[in-house]
Amino acid sequence: MAHVPPDSLPRVAVLLVDDRADNLLALEAVLEPLGQRLVRARSGEEALAAVAEEDFAVILMDIRMPGLDGFETMALLHARQSARRVPIIFISGHPAEHHLLRSYAAGAVDYILKPIDPDAIRSKVSVFVHLRQNELALELAQAKLEKRVAERTAALAEANRALALEVTERKAAEQKLYERAYHDSLTGLANRSLFILHLDRAIARYRRRPEPGFALALLDVDRFKIVNDSLGHLAGDQLLLGFAQRLTGALREVDTVARLGGDEFAVLLDGVGELKEATRLAARIEGALAAPFEIDRREIFSSASIGIVMMDDRYACAEDVLRDADVAMYRAKAAGRGRYQVFDLGMHESVMAQLELESELRRAVERDELSLRYQPIVSLHDDTVVEVEALVRWCHATRGVLLPEQFVPLAEDAGLMRRLGRWVVERALDDLAAFQASGLDVTMSVNLSPAQLSSPSLATEIARIARRSGIDPRSLNLEVTETAVMTHREIAEPALSRLVELGVSISLDDFGSGYSCLGHLHRLPVGALKIDRCFVAQLEGDERGTVVAAIISLAHNLGMAVVAEGVETAAQAERLRRLGCDRAQGFLFAEPLEAEAARALCFERRPRQSAAS
Ligand code: C2E
Ligand code: MG
Ligand code: MG
Repeated sequence: MAHVPPDSLPRVAVLLVDDRADNLLALEAVLEPLGQRLVRARSGEEALAAVAEEDFAVILMDIRMPGLDGFETMALLHARQSARRVPIIFISGHPAEHHLLRSYAAGAVDYILKPIDPDAIRSKVSVFVHLRQNELALELAQAKLEKRVAERTAALAEANRALALEVTERKAAEQKLYERAYHDSLTGLANRSLFILHLDRAIARYRRRPEPGFALALLDVDRFKIVNDSLGHLAGDQLLLGFAQRLTGALREVDTVARLGGDEFAVLLDGVGELKEATRLAARIEGALAAPFEIDRREIFSSASIGIVMMDDRYACAEDVLRDADVAMYRAKAAGRGRYQVFDLGMHESVMAQLELESELRRAVERDELSLRYQPIVSLHDDTVVEVEALVRWCHATRGVLLPEQFVPLAEDAGLMRRLGRWVVERALDDLAAFQASGLDVTMSVNLSPAQLSSPSLATEIARIARRSGIDPRSLNLEVTETAVMTHREIAEPALSRLVELGVSISLDDFGSGYSCLGHLHRLPVGALKIDRCFVAQLEGDERGTVVAAIISLAHNLGMAVVAEGVETAAQAERLRRLGCDRAQGFLFAEPLEAEAARALCFERRPRQSAAS
């Protein structure tokens, strides 16, 4: 039996049944000290009614009563389901054996003989009182427990519901996040991350089973930057979108198409093990891009340069495959765009050689491997040297002297050109200071690369170098190409204007060989045009020299001087002189020379005024 502290026990009721009031009174007096509720019944009928009304711990009942006697009452009580458990103690004045036996047989729990013994009766009753009290306490505790369990269950159910909701929400958010993390928002195609996952998976599969293999095509939209810059980003986006649609349309269901970023797309050609198949698909892509795109009610023609890599067991990761596809793609671009190029090992070797050269070039400045040659520029009026052009050389430890075309584009690509260019200006102005110290008055001409023209601090830097070398900026001429100026127009134009304000003059180099925008020409602060040597070379076969004549007259009309490059023969020099060309440069007069040799030649052929002074 569970132990419940007595003070917390509930009060219970005891039913006393006797037809005689004095007996009832006597029983009450005996049981009072138990402190429980005592209920009287004067007959069996009253007892039945009382039991229907309330719960009793025990019933003390007289056997002999008019109407229903004790046994009959007990039988009726026991017939009721609810009352069956209430223990009954019979009280009787007849100590007859058969009475006793009958009582127990009928289901009474005890039997007390009159005259009653108060202590005995109290202790008997108290046993049942405690029993009932403990039962009730237990029931109460159980009910409480059940209530708590029910409450907890409800709370749990609520928590579960909330959790389920949260899980659904989170799943949706995850899906959204996944979409965003793995897809390109403009085109809806897979992005670089997802593409790399696919590619890595394809590589892993290939390593298990190389048949049927796969190919990768990397695409770059040709001249995208021009569309983007001239028609705006919105038009650029439209072009990319149209491009993505055509691309997807030209391919098969199984191919994974991705936008890797900017104007770069990639396609994983699944199951394509034959080069023929890969090139057929590439040709199909080119075909799909052939028709113009309609953007802003304008027809825009676009194409793609495609680099193709066939998977083989040299490749261990996505990175490697993409790298080689990139190399092939650049080759396709260099070969004239709108075409595809398949990667081969020769490309890999030449890239490695370039990379090696690049890392050597990084150290060339520190190792003092760069040097300058100076090529005199003569005045066609009197054949005196009025200017020298600084031309950079790289004295490579094993490869000998390298010409600018062998490393300037590389330096440009590798982001080394600003530093290299600064070195050139510094060295040229230091040498010019030495020229001037020996009484010479020549202009120093220095070439600027696109990277230098994209530096907002160009003018400040050149002013600083000139000051440091003690050179009047008016002795400095900078040569730029139209292409270089146009590439970074927003930065280059104000930088050039600032330089002109400082006194520096500007020449337009290689005029006529590349990008030319006549409408734009007069806006640049240019003092001279340098006619590209290809026009000079043409002079020989062209009696009238139409092109050169036109350039000269154009330049003069714009108030610019004209310098002819690559003059190799006296005949060319003579023609140029007659066409009114101001200055000339070329092997006829001198090759690019070491500083001291250049200085000596300048001195020998210095203009008369400075010769006199
Ligand atoms: P450029 O500025 O047009 O320089 C003239 C180039 O023509 C020089 O080639 C010169 O050696 C060459 N040349 C001169 N006279 C003749 C001739 O009579 N016949 C022929 N066929 N060629 C002649 P170089 O030194 O190889 O330089 C090539 C280009 O590299 C230069 O063309 C210039 O654009 C660039 N460059 C040279 N030095 C620098 C530099 O310090 N910085 C930058 N950014 N570019 C440079
Ligand atoms: Mg030049
Ligand atoms: Mg030139």
